[in-house]
Amino acid sequence: MSERAAPFFCPYCGDEDLRPNEQGHGAWECAACSRAFQLKFLGLLAPGTPNNTTGREGI
Ligand SMILES: [Zn+2]
Repeated sequence: MSERAAPFFCPYCGDEDLRPNEQGHGAWECAACSRAFQLKFLGLLAPGTPNNTTGREGI
């Protein structure tokens, strides 16, 4: 995967009208609710996580 993660929905209002923010990498802004937020990669899960078969949820 790339170093950037693109959200599909605004985590605050659920709208899909997201656009990159000028704040930096991983920063997005929602045109619907005018909120700006930033995604942060926390790290990889430890191998053997019990519920890793539920699929990939995106963020
Ligand atoms: Zn929003």
